[in-house]
Amino acid sequence: MSQSVFLSSPTVRTTRNPTRGGRRYLVRTFGCQMNEHDSERIAGLLESDGMERTDELDDADVVFINTCTIRENADNRLYGNLGHLKQWKDQRPDLMLVVGGCAAQKDKEYVRERAPWVDVVMGTHNLDRVLDLMDHAEDWGPITEVVDELQAMPSSLPVRREMDHSAWITIQVGCNNTCTFCIVPSVRGQEISRRPGEIVGEVESLVREGVVEVTLLGQNVDTYGRDLAIDGRRRPIFGDLLRRVGGVPGIRRVRFTSPHPNDFREDVASAMAETEAVCEQLHFPLQSGSDRILAAMHRGYNKRKYMDRLAMARRTIADLAVSTDIIVGFPGETEEDFDATMDVVSTARFDQAFTFIFSDRPGTAAADMTDDFVDPDVIQERYMRLIEVQNRISRESNDEQVGRVVEVLSEGPSKKDPEMATTRTRDGRVVHVAGRIPPGTFLEVELIDSAMHHLVGSPR
Ligand code: SF4
Repeated sequence: MSQSVFLSSPTVRTTRNPTRGGRRYLVRTFGCQMNEHDSERIAGLLESDGMERTDELDDADVVFINTCTIRENADNRLYGNLGHLKQWKDQRPDLMLVVGGCAAQKDKEYVRERAPWVDVVMGTHNLDRVLDLMDHAEDWGPITEVVDELQAMPSSLPVRREMDHSAWITIQVGCNNTCTFCIVPSVRGQEISRRPGEIVGEVESLVREGVVEVTLLGQNVDTYGRDLAIDGRRRPIFGDLLRRVGGVPGIRRVRFTSPHPNDFREDVASAMAETEAVCEQLHFPLQSGSDRILAAMHRGYNKRKYMDRLAMARRTIADLAVSTDIIVGFPGETEEDFDATMDVVSTARFDQAFTFIFSDRPGTAAADMTDDFVDPDVIQERYMRLIEVQNRISRESNDEQVGRVVEVLSEGPSKKDPEMATTRTRDGRVVHVAGRIPPGTFLEVELIDSAMHHLVGSPR
């Protein structure tokens, strides 16, 4: 049996557990967009069993914690949360606790050891089993089930989306790279791409439900399709997929994350430039500006190649906004290496940067480079220098937008002030606009003020 046939047959049951109707669930998500997407599927599965969502722990009968293990503080938050939930479980023994996601996939025994009061521990590859595992725990007691092979593409499972007008779409799971700081390949497995026709079909059906914006998700979208050979013909490539998704009538915005600088080529940049619905936004993870550190990270590119590809993207796509990821204090990083990173930051002028302090994740190659670990005080000082420069650049980038008239899409009321709407430009900037503007509404605004992380818009 081929893998794609296997993956298109999730083991979701079709009958409901009659005892669950009307009970309430709460899903807590840590980590990346892939986890947020998985959480929407978990919510969809629980609702397919008659459960209702709550945001209050007091009301919840089931709490699902979707874990992340990419950095040490994600682990700390997980065990802090589980410790807190023990008190609730002591008071309400019928409260069902489920722990899934990357930390559970990687460390199932450790999760059990640290939190034996958890009812279900499950991994990233068997989301489709959540209802059966909960049944088992109710009938027989705590259960742990983590498998190595993906059982069902998350996109084939029921979904309860956070926003009606916007959807995540998994186009690929897993990663074939070996970045030495990253735990993803060992918790998400090798790359598996979905067939393009299946993805386009999902986009078409989302449009019928009112979706106007999609974000295509993969660990390395630029290598999308390399594992697919359809009837021996040419393999699908990411640029073609962008064109097909962007061509679906009714889709007005297409985003994607994440590309890899080593695999990002002109065909993808051209598809972005030539497909109206594809937004002028590129997340382009640098990680380090030092060739020596990039080699130790196994990133597959050096500073020159990165800068050349960034220049190509900016040349090809008008008004492109670029964000990046940077790790400070990778083992062996010297002052000279860090200067090289600062040099790229100053030259590339990223509109936004996600900056991280190196975290030695057990199970990664970098965690074993203990002889080269950098003094934490030195890392902290470098980190603060980086933040200062990047904050200035981000602020200047937003300042330059003031006076422009742009299209924004409302995401609904601002969390801080319900009389303001949070909206987003095509290039991904947050714009606050006065008024109650329903989510999913497009409007034209003039950008009248700016701050480091947002702008203020006035409707035209
Ligand atoms: S490309 Fe590197 S950093 Fe990204 S998921 Fe794969 S191994 Fe991790």
